Amino acid sequence: FSRLLAGSEGTLALTTEIKLNLVPLPSSNRALVCVHLDTVAESLKANLIALKFKPYSIELMDRTILELTRENIEQRKNRFFVKGSPGAILIVEFAERSMAEIGKKTEALEAALKKEKFGYHFPVVTGLQMDQVWDLRKAGLGILNNMPGDAKPVPVTEDTAVLPELLPQYIAEFEDILHKYGKEGVYYAHISTGELHIRPVLNLKNPKDVELFYEIGKESAGLVKKYRGSLSGEHGDGRLRGEFIPLMVGEKVYDLFKKIKKSWDPQNIFNPGKITDTPRMNTSLRYTPGQKTPEIRTYFDFSKDMGVVRATEKCNGTGLCRKSAVIGGTMCPSYMATRDEDKTTRARANILREFINRPGQKNPFDHDEIYRTLDLCLMCKGCKSECPSSVDMTKLKAEFLQHYYDAHGVPLRSRIIANISKVNQLGSLMPSAYNFVQQNKFLSGLSAKILGFAPQRKFPLLSKIPLDKWFRKNAKQFGNRAFPNGKVYLFNDEFTRFNDTDVGIKAIMLLTKLGYEVILPKHLESARTYLSKGLVKKAKAIANANIRLLKDKISEETPLVGIEPSAILTFRDEYPELADKNMRKAALRLAENSLMIDEFLEREINTGKIQIKQFTTAKRHIKLHGHCHQKSLASTSATLFVLGFPENYTVEEIPSGCCGMAGAFGYEKEHYDLSMKVGELVLFPAVRNSSKETIIAAPGTSCRHQIKDGTDRTALHPVEILYDALVETERMKSTL
Ligand code: SF4
Ligand code: SF4
Repeated sequence: FSRLLAGSEGTLALTTEIKLNLVPLPSSNRALVCVHLDTVAESLKANLIALKFKPYSIELMDRTILELTRENIEQRKNRFFVKGSPGAILIVEFAERSMAEIGKKTEALEAALKKEKFGYHFPVVTGLQMDQVWDLRKAGLGILNNMPGDAKPVPVTEDTAVLPELLPQYIAEFEDILHKYGKEGVYYAHISTGELHIRPVLNLKNPKDVELFYEIGKESAGLVKKYRGSLSGEHGDGRLRGEFIPLMVGEKVYDLFKKIKKSWDPQNIFNPGKITDTPRMNTSLRYTPGQKTPEIRTYFDFSKDMGVVRATEKCNGTGLCRKSAVIGGTMCPSYMATRDEDKTTRARANILREFINRPGQKNPFDHDEIYRTLDLCLMCKGCKSECPSSVDMTKLKAEFLQHYYDAHGVPLRSRIIANISKVNQLGSLMPSAYNFVQQNKFLSGLSAKILGFAPQRKFPLLSKIPLDKWFRKNAKQFGNRAFPNGKVYLFNDEFTRFNDTDVGIKAIMLLTKLGYEVILPKHLESARTYLSKGLVKKAKAIANANIRLLKDKISEETPLVGIEPSAILTFRDEYPELADKNMRKAALRLAENSLMIDEFLEREINTGKIQIKQFTTAKRHIKLHGHCHQKSLASTSATLFVLGFPENYTVEEIPSGCCGMAGAFGYEKEHYDLSMKVGELVLFPAVRNSSKETIIAAPGTSCRHQIKDGTDRTALHPVEILYDALVETERMKSTL
């Protein structure tokens, strides 16, 4: 029965145990030749030439997909091998007994293709970089929903397979069908087996395209039959293609299918409506045909997605946000810790889409159901880069909260967190009194209870003096030096300014000793705390003010350098989408020249301005936990690079995602348990398993607090580690 059951798509029985026939793994000597071609039509012919060299696999990506990967933060990093704007890339994989054999084959393949005038660039990728190429290729499916507007590449002829040698004629005829209806298609995947994923670009909100959805499906089924291929070469017929099975196998065989179904599942329990008695494929779709997309006024600029509604519609449901911590990455910590569907990015995108799509609402966001589903989103930005459709739930949640608060008012706790700089400024008039309250069990417990904070947490204490005051007091020390490496503007973020002043001082001293004139320019806080609590209107005002204050000072030569990743990256991520229209250009320029301090140091090391001899030769081992915003919007590579710069410093990255604290999220009473569960996924065990001599590095202030609370280990900011690694023993005197 196994063949019958394997093809039954769960319509006949429930499988409790499976015995698999495995095939041996291919040789580990592998390489990819990434053949750049001008058109898909060329790639179909080039595929036949490549097949003669007996590759292990050949995969295709067309121009549409390749262009969409430019817009995805995660995939942008994987485009290193792409040259120009190819119409198609064939990824030809060789697995041979030796690399020498592979070398011969790749050369021969290139020569054979060139002889037929196919291809203009043939990079050979080996080693770990092959994973990046495959990541780019695999992202293809999800990334298609990133296409702006309502017309998207839709799965209908998704899974057809014909003999590879028939592909050129088959695809030409398929294109004729599309062109007859004035449509285009997207092509990708398993070209070597003749199984191409082809998606026509249709707008399923438009009733005409919903009809075409059916027509194209039916006509392509006829075409597949003509070429004696398979309508579902890799996946299943399911709900989408079940309707065309009688056409493919004939009524007689289809009747047999129905009889089998009836005898195995007389009560129609197993996966009903698939393969047999399938309803029409263009019914029960996500959108009602003719449905209008509401235009909703937003605080963020959503023009790139053509409005906030379409930003929620980008989720295609593939469920990559349901991955476990074992697989790695940041998205989605709330799901990783709970394994509940309603804690996924997908659930959040779905609920937003469902509610805000309803016509005629005064405030489309005013729904408690949305509030509840979004509440456990940590706003870690993991989805912004890791979701193939780039669903940006951090931005969507902030936008939602502002509208929700417009209707219900802002809760006191949120006001306090958002305005924490003002609270700290007031407290810093008498830091000892403030710290006494925070350290006194009774008083801090009482205030936590009243305000709804977790009593288990220790709140960040205030430094004796804010960083800007310290800098003014010590300005003379810094003025009497030569600055051979130019000047740098240091962003005195709200956390470093009041709570982590010692980190700020070390950053100033490190930069000064390395030959930079440090300037603390006039600016406001970053607005991070306002954004994290959904006070977007206030964040917008701050963003505009900061752009005005900094736009004429900051340039490539004199960048804005930040210590706290979540604060400085606000300039890169949110400011351009918060700025008033007339400030957008300035916001983008500022974004380009706003760097995390580790990025700045890496840049300067690479230009030779900072030298290895300026650092100790002592041995140290460091484990790094990167900030989730850093991982999403930038990378940890600069941090790893600068921490490993001293001759005998070794660094390893903890494969953690979000630490779980996520700004103030983990301080909130109802979020404490989830916050700690997220920490326990990877970060806490990795820190606990580190020797005492190992230095734990974490650039994020809330990550350092989370590490302390979860493991009782003190983590350091990378600038503290680098400052301590400077050769010069005489440290600058400070008045602290
Ligand atoms: S939100 Fe999740 S299901 Fe939706 S596209 Fe992104 S990864 Fe896929
Ligand atoms: S921002 Fe983070 S927690 Fe929120 S949905 Fe995205 S990945 Fe999940």
